[in-house]
Amino acid sequence: MDLVIKNGTVVTATESYRADIGVDGGTIALIGRDLSGAEVIDAAGMLVMPGGVDPHTHMELPFMGSISADDFRTGTIAAACGGTTTIIDFAIQGAGQTLRQALDIWLKKAEGKACIDYGMHVAIGAMDDERMAEMGDMVEFGVPSFKVFMAYKGSFMVDDETLFRSLIRAKEIGGLIAVHAENGDILHYLINKHVAEGKKEPIWHARSHPAEAEAEATHRAVVMAGMTGAPLYVVHMTAGDALEALKAGRAKGFKVFGETCPQYLMFSVEKYAEPGFEGAKYVMSPPLREKGDSEALWRGLAGGDLQAVGTDHCPFNFVGQKDMGKDDFSKIPNGMPSVETRLPLLYHFGVGQGRFSVNRFVELVATGPARLFGLLPRKGTISVGADADLVLWDPKREHRLTKENLHMNVDYSPYEDVTVRGYPALTLQRGKVIVRNNQFVGDVGAGQFLKRSPIHL
Ligand SMILES: [Zn+2]
Repeated sequence: MDLVIKNGTVVTATESYRADIGVDGGTIALIGRDLSGAEVIDAAGMLVMPGGVDPHTHMELPFMGSISADDFRTGTIAAACGGTTTIIDFAIQGAGQTLRQALDIWLKKAEGKACIDYGMHVAIGAMDDERMAEMGDMVEFGVPSFKVFMAYKGSFMVDDETLFRSLIRAKEIGGLIAVHAENGDILHYLINKHVAEGKKEPIWHARSHPAEAEAEATHRAVVMAGMTGAPLYVVHMTAGDALEALKAGRAKGFKVFGETCPQYLMFSVEKYAEPGFEGAKYVMSPPLREKGDSEALWRGLAGGDLQAVGTDHCPFNFVGQKDMGKDDFSKIPNGMPSVETRLPLLYHFGVGQGRFSVNRFVELVATGPARLFGLLPRKGTISVGADADLVLWDPKREHRLTKENLHMNVDYSPYEDVTVRGYPALTLQRGKVIVRNNQFVGDVGAGQFLKRSPIHL
């Protein structure tokens, strides 16, 4: 054994038990008692969990006239410090590009910079017969998931026929359609109306993206998934009514799955009314909702109606980026920093406050996303043969989530006042320690591109 992690409590999505973990050649070789190896890490008092899998990040994303502030170096260092060892980012098809060209652009952004392992989805902007055909090549290349937008009219939004056809195509080839579910026509009308009426403060962003428009689009996508028999993953769900639409589909046996993000659990629409321009820090799509929606999402996570927690990590600096929309909410770059704080927030407010078990926590932040996106069993769990991507989680460690205590390359933390209990002490990737005591000690560029399996859910 190259390495043995001794005396810890191993936590998976289904079990917690005392065992040592033996690592050889970067993978888990043995789980048992009294193992010995060349190097030993004492994990007494620690929970030994699979590294987090974040299925929804946007590093170095050109968006709304700016570029998200984390690149693949800073963003993946931050992820690792927060206990995440795998991300799946989105290659976004630009005008006139093939899917392969878009993918190559994103692979180049990550190469030599990514500090943890990463996969890619392809976000399809212009869907035509050639792109439909090309989806099969993407699956063969290890990119079996595709993002389709029901919002952003005039740029990414696709019509219903296109969404319907892409679901049929995905089912044929072992692909998974991930959908941004908001009614783009309604949003387009409301945004233009409010701007024309001079209603330009951040709160009007929320009023231009009503929960009903999310619930309606979610329902529509769920119905199409049911009709086609294709699996569907609804990203960043925020509204209780949208969750009801997902639940109704699942009750009928449709293969529909939902993700939410920590910001929708932690905050509500009141944030947009904060004095000055503070509300801009929380401008993202969909927007923050009512407190009752957050509670519905928590119940969905606990009860199994939601299957994953991603981040939609897409940070923009308050000064120099968010303030592009100082006089007009529709020009505020949409997005928030989140990749580093996902596990600590879900652990503290989920496990720590008794909403769900530590096993459910592992399912939501690691095993579930790995299963849904074709990474299991290599990522997202602790089993013999899996990559030794591990977090030694100190359940007693307290950490205040101020900007200074975090690594994301952005000039604010949305969680300045929040102190969590439970934080990574060590993060390992493929058997190598990459974070020790909140400091990245790995190698820049050591992250590997993950070719994922076709998805048959
Ligand atoms: Zn996103």
